[in-house]
Amino acid sequence: MKIGPKSAELFETAKNLFPGGVNSPVRAFRSVGGTPVFIDRGKGSHIWDADGAEYVDYCCSWGPLILGHANEQVLESVYETMQNGTSFGAPTRLENELATLILRNIPFLERIRFVSSGTEAVMSAIRLARGYTGRTKILKFEGCYHGHADSLLVKAGSGLVTFGNSSSAGVPEAFVNETITVPLNNPEAVEAAFKMYEGQIACVIIEPVPANNGLLLQHKSFLQLLRDLCDTHGSLLLFDEVINGFRIGFTGAAGYYGIVPDLVTYGKIIGGGFPVGAYAGKLQIMSCISPEGNVYQAGTLSGNPVAMRAGIAQLSQCLQPGFYEALEKKTHYLIEGIKKVCTVRPFRIHTIGSIFWLAFSDLEAVRTADEIDPASMMVFRQLYHALLANGVYMGPSGYEVGFVSAAHTYDDLDFTINAFAKAFQTITP
Ligand SMILES: *Cc1c(COP(=O)(O)O)cnc(C)c1O
Repeated sequence: MKIGPKSAELFETAKNLFPGGVNSPVRAFRSVGGTPVFIDRGKGSHIWDADGAEYVDYCCSWGPLILGHANEQVLESVYETMQNGTSFGAPTRLENELATLILRNIPFLERIRFVSSGTEAVMSAIRLARGYTGRTKILKFEGCYHGHADSLLVKAGSGLVTFGNSSSAGVPEAFVNETITVPLNNPEAVEAAFKMYEGQIACVIIEPVPANNGLLLQHKSFLQLLRDLCDTHGSLLLFDEVINGFRIGFTGAAGYYGIVPDLVTYGKIIGGGFPVGAYAGKLQIMSCISPEGNVYQAGTLSGNPVAMRAGIAQLSQCLQPGFYEALEKKTHYLIEGIKKVCTVRPFRIHTIGSIFWLAFSDLEAVRTADEIDPASMMVFRQLYHALLANGVYMGPSGYEVGFVSAAHTYDDLDFTINAFAKAFQTITP
């Protein structure tokens, strides 16, 4: 698609202000080519760019907007709350309300701490796991994203169990050495890691539904194995539910699979479109957090009243009976429609709940990062621009998943299927 003149002009200005012209690298369109579309406004499932072009949006701010853009109840709650001031650095009733709403409906959680982003939630939960166990190593999986804290920006090298190489400059070797990285869907690798680092692993961290590097659905038995190994070896199991939480049902992937983690991290949906993260778990573990315990963690804007109120307004709507069933039904309708009009082979759509991922591969299931063929991303690149030209906005990378929101109507879905039909026609092998 030819980007509009206003977006192009804004990007020229932005390049002189921000590294790469953006405040978060995924926005820069590097992986699909071209320059980003600047967004002016959104309402429901639709967004409008700086040149006035309209799109049906499946990025939904990368997941937080499960009710779509500018949801009336969220906006009203926010306006009302703002009239009373926007931050106090002292406790407010709204923190109790959001926490109660979450803890009442997610039975395995006893205490929660609010922070301001997913990264902050994971970083703090890892510190807590280390403080609680007195151990330093963490075990993570290749292809899982946990925010940009130092010890988590690590990918695996080759071999079953390796010390990771950092995937970012500026991460000290000493930090990398505390992170063990193994492939997903590989019980032997996890068992080998536990054997090799007996008594040293503070926690195993995983996205129970890995959704940041394609959608790498795991077998329940693999997640159960992690639970069992953690129990046997005195390590904590940390489910990073920053995407999964309140998305794959209200209780996230933990509820979906019926596996209870020791610690869980939230972000994205929890803040109703405002910057909120949280970590939560059993009383005994959470009591180690300052000021009750000696693991320090704090935040000037933590539990911000406006953000809390947005979270309450959003999560209350998620709790309405039939909410997740309706979302899943829409997602299924969309996927079946896209499959029907697809003229490109190989092609599959992987899905769970209201998350979907377009894969240009014949694999019935993709469960590890290595199973994704980088060459298939060239097809996505072409499709991406054709979709934009036909009024459909997705996250600008073939490794990113799409999200259906409650605001998407069946008319939107039909429009989208039609846009896909046209876009597929433009793809040259
Ligand atoms: C988005 C995400 C994060 C990071 O959250 P931010 O709010 O971007 O810092 C961490 N973990 C997972 C699983 C995520 O999807």
